[in-house]
Amino acid sequence: MVDVAVVGAGVAGLATAIQLRRRGRESFVVLERGGDVGGTWRDNTYPGVACDVPAPLYAYSFRPQPAWTHRYARGAQVQEYLRTSAREEGLGPHLRLRTDVLDASWDDDGGRWRVTAATPYGELRVRARVLVTAVGRLAEPRTPDVPGLDGFAGPVVHTARWDAGLDLRGLRVGVVGTGASAVQVVPQLAGLAERVVVFQRTPAWVVPRRDAEVPEAEREALRRDPAAVRALRSELLAELDAGIAARRRERPALDALRSRALEHLAAQVPGGPLRRALTPDYEVGCKRVLLSDDFYPALLRDDVVLEPSALQHVERGAAVAGSGMRHELDALVLATGFTTTRPPIAERLRGRGGRTLAQRWAGGMAAFASTAVPGFPNLFLLGGPHAVLGHSSAIDVLEAQVEHVLGALDHLRRTGPAAAPLEVAERTEAAYLREVDAMVAGTVWQDGGCSSWYRDDRSGRLALLWPASAAEFRARNARFDPAPYGAAS
Ligand SMILES: Cc1cc2nc3c(=O)[nH]c(=O)nc-3n(C[C@H](O)[C@H](O)[C@H](O)COP(=O)(O)OP(=O)(O)OC[C@H]3O[C@@H](n4cnc5c(N)ncnc54)[C@H](O)[C@@H]3O)c2cc1C
Repeated sequence: MVDVAVVGAGVAGLATAIQLRRRGRESFVVLERGGDVGGTWRDNTYPGVACDVPAPLYAYSFRPQPAWTHRYARGAQVQEYLRTSAREEGLGPHLRLRTDVLDASWDDDGGRWRVTAATPYGELRVRARVLVTAVGRLAEPRTPDVPGLDGFAGPVVHTARWDAGLDLRGLRVGVVGTGASAVQVVPQLAGLAERVVVFQRTPAWVVPRRDAEVPEAEREALRRDPAAVRALRSELLAELDAGIAARRRERPALDALRSRALEHLAAQVPGGPLRRALTPDYEVGCKRVLLSDDFYPALLRDDVVLEPSALQHVERGAAVAGSGMRHELDALVLATGFTTTRPPIAERLRGRGGRTLAQRWAGGMAAFASTAVPGFPNLFLLGGPHAVLGHSSAIDVLEAQVEHVLGALDHLRRTGPAAAPLEVAERTEAAYLREVDAMVAGTVWQDGGCSSWYRDDRSGRLALLWPASAAEFRARNARFDPAPYGAAS
């Protein structure tokens, strides 16, 4: 029996565990299905993987990292940072790796969560007063549903399950998708593969990245001055958060963002069919704006082809696009993103009366304070509904959620073991969702004319997105208030 069971050891799960330890709470376990911590950064090892927010923002506020070598951290560096954080914060004894949570059921009589997980050594059972899920929203690779994919003769690899042994040199490679992973992997494959064909269903808005090495003198100065690291982080956070103005269609911010992207395209791609194919027909910011200096130049190469339509079906040695073009290929790289609105964990969580979270979410994902769900006492979701930013770093939002959980734990400790569990009422959740919907109104996300992984097709709502700034998320949700949970303070 533990106080807290955390599912997932990515950025969010590790942040929770670190903060628990720092507060002297040792009664917890972190259950992680993978063989290592890191989540996203353990799983995404494709060539070119990197952060798309400035490196100082991709570190915990409570564990500043002064030594990033580049303006944008490389995926392997983030992974190393997370592993080091776990080690130095003494999480080892609490971590259960290769532990896949199969079922977590609320036991109303005992007022506990009963968790069952599969491990290489058999089944692990844990009872916990509080369950925190930190299973990620970009953790389940999405394979496109195109006929013939299984019959393709060559290797097929998803960017989030890269095979380090895969040698694409000299092969004709199809890359499916033009989202955040594609713009990173395509420039790496160009020149290495004999030919690269990029299947684009929808063009992305792309702005300059201006990546560069951080000069050693600057890094040294930051190493010597932790206050400067914190100041830089706050400054960058505020700068990115200001990007919310464009998403709210405020002028001139929206026009400036659109012009920046169009000028970038015009500077890198000469006028003509290719530039036209790369020009989005929806509003900038509706999907995540991508950062790249080398994606467009890669598409200009003689050995790279932009196929301006979606992959339609696959044959043994070829891929056929919506345009009717047939491309002979030896390998396929799926940069097709993730399943976001139907997380497998929802099938595995059972609240009051044995009802699964998937059943609760049959009409779409939702949660109060982006964190708690009616019918699921003492359950807190990190990185779930309305906890994804479309314009800035995930870490600040996840940290704010962890603060909410810590407040809830303090409350439970104060009220004692016999106190009622924390559970929100339906109407409390409904009121929160109305608040969020009001924030969406008038933004580019609502009527920008794009489809995106933020939207839940069951409800039609932008169920994953927090449609405001990171600072507003923090102000609204970081502090735990017992009142919405029907508890006295
Ligand atoms: C390629 C890529 C680049 C990105 N770049 C950025 C960026 O630059 N900036 C940014 O803000 N965000 C970025 N993101 C988003 C990124 O996912 C978040 O920033 C952050 O890493 C999410 O952390 P998390 O802990 O919520 O989830 P994850 O990192 O996904 O971790 C979830 C963990 O839960 C585990 N898990 C899931 N189910 C179970 C189960 N049933 N039992 C046990 N364990 C389970 C998984 O194995 C995983 O380790 C990027 C995402 C990708 C895919």
